[in-house]
Amino acid sequence: MLFLPQAKPEPEESIYNAIDAVEFMRDLRKLQQRTKCGNNTCVGFIKLFEQHLGTKANSTLPKSFAACDKALKAEAGVKCLELHGCTNCQRHVFAPGDKTSARCPECGAGRYQADGKPNERVFFFPIKGRLQKLMSLPRYYNMCQHEFERPRNNNYVTDVYDTPAWRKFMGPVTFPIQRIGLQFCVDAIPAFAAGTLSLKPAEFINLSLPPSERAKSENILLSMLLPANLPKGQSQKKYFDFIADFELNEMATIGIMPDRIPVKVKIFSTSMDTKGREELTGNVFVGGAGA
Ligand SMILES: [Zn+2]
Repeated sequence: MLFLPQAKPEPEESIYNAIDAVEFMRDLRKLQQRTKCGNNTCVGFIKLFEQHLGTKANSTLPKSFAACDKALKAEAGVKCLELHGCTNCQRHVFAPGDKTSARCPECGAGRYQADGKPNERVFFFPIKGRLQKLMSLPRYYNMCQHEFERPRNNNYVTDVYDTPAWRKFMGPVTFPIQRIGLQFCVDAIPAFAAGTLSLKPAEFINLSLPPSERAKSENILLSMLLPANLPKGQSQKKYFDFIADFELNEMATIGIMPDRIPVKVKIFSTSMDTKGREELTGNVFVGGAGA
């Protein structure tokens, strides 16, 4: 018997019509996070599915991650802002909404180079919106009650809550919690394969979470990406001062979640070495490396 090749029948209705496009892209982002593959690879796979599973004309799949990312950011309260700092007086940071000021109001120095690029650029991810969203999740909110609920014994120091510094700075714990403590951390990392320190992420760890949850990457709040080569002294501190004015002071005094019981957010920042202290305080220490 002779089988003649037959034209592949077109499906009457594309499979894509049954797919929730946003849900699909969200799952693809999760897979991408696990496998570390790039955006182009993912979009390549979508095109491959389109070829084999249905007609392109009927496809409802998005052609990029833009819409998915927008929905995810809104859901998570995530924003990314670009900050420019003055490299002359090292005291001024241009507000994220200020696109027009070309000169530093403190010293008059230029903000941009001749090619239009800013002299100094930092990426800033405000934490207030994210914390507000996280605290509205029952699971996260309940985890923040750990300090009150944990077993304790006044004769033992079993967690940061038992230290005099915590007790003095944070005050007594209540149920439900009315203040949480965040630890601010900055250190340089090699972000690229060049093997050199290229970026300094500045992030917050929520010490009010149980110890097993504090250091998980999904619970660390990234605040800024600073260049690793900023000069010593005031150059980094101006950004720390900026985020204090932008959101941290308000979070500490007024708190977050005004629709429920407000939770004040207190910030710890400390350094275990001289170099770190220089960067945190903006002072320059004179002496040997081990001083
Ligand atoms: Zn200046």
